[in-house]
Amino acid sequence: MNILTKTAEIREIRSSWHEKGLRIGFVPTMGALHQGHLSLVQQSKQENDITIVSIFVNPTQFNESSDFVNYPRTEDADIELLKAVNPEVIFIPLATEMYPEPNHSIELDLEGLDRVMEGKFRQGHFAGVVTIVDKFFDLIQPDRAYFGQKDFQQLQIIRLLATKRYPQTSIIACPIIREPDGLAMSSRNARLTADQRERSLVISQALFHLESRWKKATISELTEEAKSLFLSSGLELEYFEVVDPLSLNPVYEYTGSSLVACVAARVGEIRLIDNISLPA
Ligand code: AMP
Repeated sequence: MNILTKTAEIREIRSSWHEKGLRIGFVPTMGALHQGHLSLVQQSKQENDITIVSIFVNPTQFNESSDFVNYPRTEDADIELLKAVNPEVIFIPLATEMYPEPNHSIELDLEGLDRVMEGKFRQGHFAGVVTIVDKFFDLIQPDRAYFGQKDFQQLQIIRLLATKRYPQTSIIACPIIREPDGLAMSSRNARLTADQRERSLVISQALFHLESRWKKATISELTEEAKSLFLSSGLELEYFEVVDPLSLNPVYEYTGSSLVACVAARVGEIRLIDNISLPA
């Protein structure tokens, strides 16, 4: 397990691997690693010769400076956790390494995928995500890149980025890893108090409720039922939508295709997201 911090080192080592015909898997993260992240690394290890994990808290994707400042940073513990899954490279760059020109941002038409759900509540978030992932893809030129379905909208946007700019990179979607009680694992969970942690269970419970009632009432009725669970939860619901997985537009009637229910809610100043796939 090699820990690198410079883009030049990555460029050099990546070229030598490509020359040898080795397959490169890439797992971008913002650190504060948990079992969800490790599952991505494990899958990459199984499917590639080389796995590169990046740990970089990307400043340009934070729309609230307090979220950036308070984002958990646990580098030593992250390295310890990664030892168990043993990626070939951990890449931990400084911001100046990734952004030698501070205001750099790529221009890419995201075809409206960035204007719904997270895009409405986090102005500029996806422009930052796409900019940093584009930089990583350009640098690493991975054969496969691994993203969690936990961030479903991000996954679909990265698929579009890859289609448009990195057709040689396959985007691999990995299932959501949950705590035993259902809460989706998230780096931000580390900031929850015991009381907030307990209250946050309503997020996955609302999704599971909707799943258990799927096709037993209209989508609008089920969405209202799910939303009503938040009323006494102490969480501030930002959105709860059933959407088409490709357009991400809300769907109010069964379409004969699989759909996705997506939710975002605030508990105190911590914002959590989750989703669930629903069958055709
Ligand atoms: P982050 O460090 O939050 O930027 O996440 C890095 C990657 O891990 C993203 O592709 C996330 O979707 C993925 N990820 C985060 N949480 C989970 C989870 N609970 N299950 C599966 N993947 C996850």
